[in-house]
Amino acid sequence: MTLALIGPGILCVFSLAFLWAWVIDRRRDYLVLLAAAPVLFAIGVLVQVFLRPEQVPANAMLSGVFYTLAVQVAAEAVLRRSAKRLGWAWHLCAFAAVMGGLWYFAYVAPNLLVRVYLQNFGYGLILLVASLHLTHLMRGRSVDRVLFWVLFVFGLHFFPRTILTIGLEAPGDLRAFQGSLFWQALHLSLAVLGAALATALLAAALSDVIDDLRRERDSDGLTGLLNRRAFEQRALAVFAVSGGAPCALIVCDVDHFKRVNDGYGHAAGDEVLRAFGKLLRRITRENDPVARIGGEEFAILLTGASREAGRALAERARTGLSELAFSFTPAGPAVTASFGVAIWRPGDTLPGLFARADRRLYRAKAAGRNRSIAVDPAGMPAPNQRLSGG
Ligand code: GH3
Ligand code: MG
Ligand code: MG
Repeated sequence: MTLALIGPGILCVFSLAFLWAWVIDRRRDYLVLLAAAPVLFAIGVLVQVFLRPEQVPANAMLSGVFYTLAVQVAAEAVLRRSAKRLGWAWHLCAFAAVMGGLWYFAYVAPNLLVRVYLQNFGYGLILLVASLHLTHLMRGRSVDRVLFWVLFVFGLHFFPRTILTIGLEAPGDLRAFQGSLFWQALHLSLAVLGAALATALLAAALSDVIDDLRRERDSDGLTGLLNRRAFEQRALAVFAVSGGAPCALIVCDVDHFKRVNDGYGHAAGDEVLRAFGKLLRRITRENDPVARIGGEEFAILLTGASREAGRALAERARTGLSELAFSFTPAGPAVTASFGVAIWRPGDTLPGLFARADRRLYRAKAAGRNRSIAVDPAGMPAPNQRLSGG
């Protein structure tokens, strides 16, 4: 009996941890379900252990309700974390199948052995179905992979454990049942695997929270692009691994942006920034860092790109922006931007690269705006002779 209470006790500690995690970040509603599942399981155990033996059918039904709900709620929680669901209809059918079977073999044709198989195989199946919906986790972070395998093993273990510990003969009465090898193995495995699953889930939930915080720290709230700090960090990482391969830095600045704000309002200005950000993201590769590095200034790092490729992309962005229509001026004057392009070479520094690209951007402004410049005029002194022409 004590053994049966250890598992629920441990799981209820996890329940508190999930509840605490939910209080910190209330957007993750699956944490409430994760907090509820161990409590439902614990109530099931208490009902089964403390209901009097004369009430065996009622005991089987009532504890069955809580066990089944605990498994379904846990499965649903793990799925929701990955934005997946089994759906109400599926859950109702699963619940009806398990509880209908329990009712039949408790009242109509009482048979403890069949009830044991029905519950264990049923719960194993529910967890396996959930894990089959989560195979994408195997391609995720290590905490996701661990979570997938723990869930899968948890679901799978119901089958061999039941067969090996109870076989084809159930103990004659409830007291013998609660002292049987099956009962001990059941509660030991639920305590161990349940704690493993809860630990994996807690680690996954914490990783989710940390990843979100990191994303918020690195991104620009208006456009969703990287912010300056994150862009510089990504650029330095690219330089560290590019091993001499050139990459192109493109900096750009929207032309006469103040006029948009002054003429149509700040919201119109924001609309331009968002649309331009979206355009830049669309025309670049997923791994190329794109950032809003200032008010109406953007930067793109094209990895493994030549000067010509950098210039070509700047031109695509330039013509793309000039062709965008905005709600505040559907047929009005086009919004344009100016671009400066510089090529990074081994030994270059990020500030040096930015300085060259900025210099060309300001020449593009001075030359009349709405253009891109990727080279310095012949004879222009380079601030760093070693890097001249980069
Ligand atoms: P230039 O062609 O020389 O670049 O002229 P400009 O008007 O674009 O440049 P200026 O630096 O004079 O003006 C930039 C304006 O951008 C001023 C600032 O109020 C506005 N701005 C900065 N951040 C935001 C923002 O997040 N939203 C909006 N709507 N405007 C912003
Ligand atoms: Mg500007
Ligand atoms: Mg500016």
